[in-house]
Amino acid sequence: MAYVIAEPCYTTKDKACVPACPVDCIYEGPKMLYIHPEECIDCGACVEPCPVQAIFPADELPEKWKFYIEVNKNFFPEKDEAKAWTGHTVPPDKAAH
Ligand code: SF4
Repeated sequence: MAYVIAEPCYTTKDKACVPACPVDCIYEGPKMLYIHPEECIDCGACVEPCPVQAIFPADELPEKWKFYIEVNKNFFPEKDEAKAWTGHTVPPDKAAH
């Protein structure tokens, strides 16, 4: 089960987690960052660098933030398309979100 970014990231977007991820599966959206649930290898390296403690293993998310499992998953289109993105920026079709 993947790691998930939750509410403390919303509008914070510190991005300290991005260089910590060995598989580059943390992507930037307009208001927060998102972990690709299929690319994440569950290493936990992103947890410590986050200054606002926004990242949790999916099964350890506080109850009030469980819906961020879906929030992270729903950010991504099909895997192939996600891999085609460059620079970890929001893809054009997500820019309005
Ligand atoms: Fe990347 Fe590891 Fe964090 Fe998953 S748990 S997002 S692989 S650093």
